[in-house]
Amino acid sequence: MPILTATPAAIGDAAQHLAAGRLVAFPTETVYGLGGDAGSDSAVAAIFAAKGRPTFNPLIVHAPGALALEEAVVFDGRARRLAELFWPGPLTLVLPRHPRSRVSLLTSAGLDSIAVRVPSHPVALALLRAAGVLVAAPSANRSGRVSPTSAAHVAEGLADRVAMILDGGTCPVGVESTVLDLTGDRPTLLRPGGTTLESLEEAIGAIDIAGPIAPDTPRSPGQLSSHYAPALPVRLNASRPEEGEAFMGFGPVDGATLNLSPTGDLSEAAANLFAMMRRLDDSRYRAIAVAPIPNHGLGRAINDRLRRAAAPRPS
Ligand code: AMP
Ligand code: MG
Repeated sequence: MPILTATPAAIGDAAQHLAAGRLVAFPTETVYGLGGDAGSDSAVAAIFAAKGRPTFNPLIVHAPGALALEEAVVFDGRARRLAELFWPGPLTLVLPRHPRSRVSLLTSAGLDSIAVRVPSHPVALALLRAAGVLVAAPSANRSGRVSPTSAAHVAEGLADRVAMILDGGTCPVGVESTVLDLTGDRPTLLRPGGTTLESLEEAIGAIDIAGPIAPDTPRSPGQLSSHYAPALPVRLNASRPEEGEAFMGFGPVDGATLNLSPTGDLSEAAANLFAMMRRLDDSRYRAIAVAPIPNHGLGRAINDRLRRAAAPRPS
């Protein structure tokens, strides 16, 4: 499995792999993706196999522009407005499947909706343009593990399972895309992510928040699927570390082992989140304590990932 710097030649080779049904890991502005031809059942099956996903969750379909998605999904007025305002960028729209859609049903786990997005990373855009196929891509990590924000992270988990890893450096946003469901009358936030809820509501008005991720509702731990999980236990809203704990700080806290953002900048914290989680996930410690993160803007996505990291693990 070669890790190749994302030169035009390497991007061309990666595009050929995708067009031939093989898997390529590539950088996006959010996290690294594990890409395969979204129209190919066998390529999509290979994605699930490589990740070791126990179930067929629906995957996000990536395109180099909204035009390339016209015959994959059905855009309504809200979808067009959001696409114009936020694409390319970290926003995924769940839209009705187009009657002539050639996207594999395995990609959408048999649903009659498809999640679509146009990433803004220049390497991702160049790759998608050159490949000439829609690309299904979940995060390029083994199932249940922390999402990769560098080519080295991808290699740790998927080294021998992809035809190529395109190295485009560190992902600038660092948390996954925001997922917004537009299949019903009320737009519904399915996953907080790199595009803030506030900016989406400014564009299209009130957005419902899907049950399990509502910020202020009391939740039973069982509601939370463990995901993005480090090997060590995670303790949230910690004001200081206890004996033997690593401490992931935020803002001007004392005693941080690593600090997501000493100045309290949520964008910087999002970009650092997964890489710092990996560095603290070390057998020198018995747990990872995490300082409180404000729950607005990108903080909503950071807190969602942290709650999942702290959720009880499947046995
Ligand atoms: P990931 O595989 O980590 O990129 O995450 C993809 C996210 O998009 C998951 O939260 C999926 O549940 C969600 N998703 C993808 N397709 C659909 C769909 N058709 N309907 C609802 N959610 C979807
Ligand atoms: Mg993932």
